[in-house]
Amino acid sequence: MVNKLARLSQALQENGYRLTAARQEILAALVGSEGHVSADELVGLVRQDAPGVGRMTVYRTLELLSELGLIRPVYQGTGAAHYILLDDGHHHHLVCSGCDRVIEFDECAVQEISRVISGHFNFEIHGHLLEFYGRCEACRGV
Ligand SMILES: [Zn+2]
Ligand SMILES: [Zn+2]
Ligand SMILES: [Zn+2]
Repeated sequence: MVNKLARLSQALQENGYRLTAARQEILAALVGSEGHVSADELVGLVRQDAPGVGRMTVYRTLELLSELGLIRPVYQGTGAAHYILLDDGHHHHLVCSGCDRVIEFDECAVQEISRVISGHFNFEIHGHLLEFYGRCEACRGV
């Protein structure tokens, strides 16, 4: 968790952004939440430690981190976007269509195919979000 925070902070600075106190609070809250927070939830988390940080500052920082490819908004159902950490380049989900449960998994099945696609389209790939859709054990009643 400390590493993740250090990596995010470093990435901001390497791209020429100042690591302000507010940004540090926002990054810490983001890492502490293990990802999957909406912007408004993140505002709540940040304000637990730093009541002075404004909503717009949180929104702008999320936008900035998205532009840098460090986080990504994910849209599930009709709710607000959730942000996930993409700082190590990938993120994987199993999404149940029965109960909307999202299961995280670490096994990366697509390194090889991303190399092939990258060559095919001459596209420099920085990361991926992989989602499989289906029904979980509980929903299938097994
Ligand atoms: Zn389910
Ligand atoms: Zn996730
Ligand atoms: Zn992966």
